[in-house]
Parts: sequence; structure tokens; C-alpha cells
Amino acid sequence: MDFDLPEGAIAVREGVRAIAGKYDQDYWNRCDAEKRWPEEVWRELVQGGWHSLAVPEEYGGAGQGLLELSVALEALAAGGAGGAASFMYLLTPAFGGLTIARHGTAEQKRAFLPGIASGEIETCFAVTEPDAGSNAIDITTRARRDGDGFVVDGQKIWISGVERADHLVLVARTVPAAEARPRTSGFTVLLVDVKAAVADGTLAYRPIPKLGTNTVASSMVFLDGVRVPADRVLGEVDQGFAVLWDILNPERILAAAGGVGFGELALDVACGYARERAPFGTPIGANQAVAFPLAKAKAQVELARLMTYKAAWLWDRGRPCGSEANIAKLTAADAAWQAADRAFQTHGGMAYSLEYPVARMFRDARIAKNIPVAEELVLAHIAQHELGLPRSY
Ligand SMILES: Cc1cc2nc3c(=O)[nH]c(=O)nc-3n(C[C@H](O)[C@H](O)[C@H](O)COP(=O)(O)OP(=O)(O)OC[C@H]3O[C@@H](n4cnc5c(N)ncnc54)[C@H](O)[C@@H]3O)c2cc1C
Repeated sequence: MDFDLPEGAIAVREGVRAIAGKYDQDYWNRCDAEKRWPEEVWRELVQGGWHSLAVPEEYGGAGQGLLELSVALEALAAGGAGGAASFMYLLTPAFGGLTIARHGTAEQKRAFLPGIASGEIETCFAVTEPDAGSNAIDITTRARRDGDGFVVDGQKIWISGVERADHLVLVARTVPAAEARPRTSGFTVLLVDVKAAVADGTLAYRPIPKLGTNTVASSMVFLDGVRVPADRVLGEVDQGFAVLWDILNPERILAAAGGVGFGELALDVACGYARERAPFGTPIGANQAVAFPLAKAKAQVELARLMTYKAAWLWDRGRPCGSEANIAKLTAADAAWQAADRAFQTHGGMAYSLEYPVARMFRDARIAKNIPVAEELVLAHIAQHELGLPRSY
């Protein structure tokens, strides 16, 4: 057993922490209040190559793995970004960089990866539909063969970052669920040129008013006759479910890494306040009623970190990691939520002030239990695959 992070991962953690350290909580509060992408931080990540860690070196990236990407995301979240960090690392670095590096043809890699590495190309990912969230099998967005390509019609919901994206990694059905045998067949993953489709009027989006995670919009996306050339299929036609799973596991592991960093940040903010605030003369942190829940949250963060690194380590070695990815996501989301909740409690009335960061953390941490996969679906996976219990759905 070796619990030391590889040297490369330590360098990643230090590099990203150095960038995050330049931006205080007022900066993140402002981005959130103004509903704007943290462009300054993003540009620094791009310049340092910290967003393209998983892009192979021959295409301008760092040629590292999911562990390094997870460590970077965790460092950004812990260094101040909190919930915003997950979107910054999922949308382009993972959904674009990692997925195309894994499943792209040589021509697709040449077309997309250098642009992702230089920061010129941004991506986002669309699987969720109004009537198919947890149950992705039943999506109805349809890609029909048309000449030398496909025409796509359908609707997606909650698509984060589509307003920035150049390309959308779209999960569609080339065979409707009712006709697909097995039901996991008939999926095709397509790279949709968002800006071209918006320009020719075949793709439109409408941001959904939402409670938090305001540094990126999450939108309804309407696809009405979007043309996609045949050379924009990621993986095999009709066999896209394999690609989808290969996106969902890293998504869970990265979401877990974001939760770990978020938890650490919330504890940092909470303990800073608990060391200073002294309404009865001694700092409130001296009260075990304040300190113990924070200590418990710290223990949960550390446990979640171990499972997150293990899941990423397995994935990087091409080994099965479905349960580990799910357990990491479950424990990290809960750890982040417990930490944010205790940070909120520790701040007393000040927790409600929008001039402090805890109100934002409180609402942003809560959604981590529901997305990218709901806690119940994670528990269902563990019950079925680890405990051998019958499946409920
Ligand atoms: C801020 C935000 C950003 C997002 N970004 C993206 C994105 O970029 N791209 C994208 O494709 N999607 C995105 N999503 C969608 C997200 O992945 C889904 O919301 C999530 O998968 C849950 O699906 P749902 O909302 O349809 O919930 P549903 O499937 O309707 O489930 C609702 C609730 O029912 C319970 N439940 C459902 N099924 C079961 C079961 N079998 N057993 C027990 N309980 C069950 C769970 O508690 C679940 O939370 C985003 C969502 C949000 C809120």
C-alpha cells in the first residue's frame, strides 16, 4: 500500500492552489451574485495548462490521468471556488478533453484536442431530458440517419455551460428505447457544433432560473433538425452506451473530488470564524457543541478523499470502478453538505448575510446530493452490486 500522491499530482495540487489563493471569497461572491463565469481564474488555469491535464501531450495537454484531474478540481474547490470548481473541471476538461482523448478518432483528436488545450474550444454535455434524468435509458432525443450524417430532434434539460460551449457532447438515440434490444443499445454520442446550430436556427437554449451554482447557467436545450456529420460520432453508432458510462464514472469521481474540496473550504471558513468569534469572551470553537460537529465533518471529508483517490486510481488503470465511483460520490456529497451545514450553524445570524460566503456554500453544497446522480440511485447501485440485493427499478 502506498498512500502518497504521485509527485505529478502534488505539483498539480500546488499549482492550482497557487492560482486559487489569489482570489478571495468576495471574488466568488461577486461572480455568484453577477451570475458570471469566473473568467479570470479560468484564463489562469488555461494559461498554466491546469485545465488540459487529461489531454495527451501530443495534442498540447499534460498527458495525465483522472487522478491528477481530480486533485486539480479538489484544489480549486478547496482553494476558494467551492461549488463553482466542479463546473470548471467537468464541462471542458472532462466532457471534452477526457472523453475525446478516450473515444475520439485520430481525426477528431486532431480537430478538437489542440483547441481544448489552448483554451479556444469549450465543451458541455447533454444527457438529461425533461422525462429522463436518473433513467437515461428512456431518453427520446432522436438522431436519424440522413445522407452522410444525422439529423437530431429532441429536448434536453439542465445543460450547464451551453451558452459558452463551442461543442456539445450529446447523447441521443439512434434506435428508440422501445425497439432497442438490449435496451442499452441504440445510443449514439455526437459532437454537436453549438454555435453553427444556433446560427442556422436548429438549436436554441433557455437558461433555467436556479437557486445556486450561479457561475454557470443551466439551460433547456431545444434541438430541431440539427445536422451532425458522420465524422462527429464519438465511439460507435448504436453503441454509445459504452461511451456514456465512460463519461458517467469520471463525472462521479470528479464530482466527488469537488465535494471533498468544497467540504475542506467550508470547514476552513467555519473554523476561521469559530476561532475568532467570542460572544462570551472565549472563541465559540472552544465549545464542543461547535467543535465536534466540525470535527466529524472533517473526518467525513477525509474518508471521502480516500475513496475518491481510490476510484480515480482504478479508473486510470482501466479497472472496474463503478462501485468506488458511486461510493466516492455519495460520501463526498454528504461530507460537503455536512461541512456547509455546520459552517452555516457556526456563523449564527451572520450565516444569513450575503456578504459572508456561507449562505452561498449552504445552497451550492445541497445540490451535490442530487446531481450528477441522485443519492438514492447511488445507494441502489451499491445495494445491487455490492450487497447482491434485488434491483427496485
Ligand atoms: C445545477 C444542475 C446542473 C446540471 N447540469 C447538467 C448537465 O450539464 N448535463 C446534463 O445532462 N444534466 C445536468 N443536470 C441534470 C442532473 O444530472 C439530473 O438532474 C440528475 O441526474 C437527476 O435527474 P432528475 O432531475 O431527472 O431526477 P429524477 O430522475 O426525476 O429523480 C428525482 C428524485 O427521485 C428519486 N429517485 C428517482 N429514481 C429513483 C429510484 N429508482 N429509486 C429511488 N429514488 C429514486 C431521487 O431522490 C431523485 O433525486 C444538472 C442538474 C442541475 C440541478
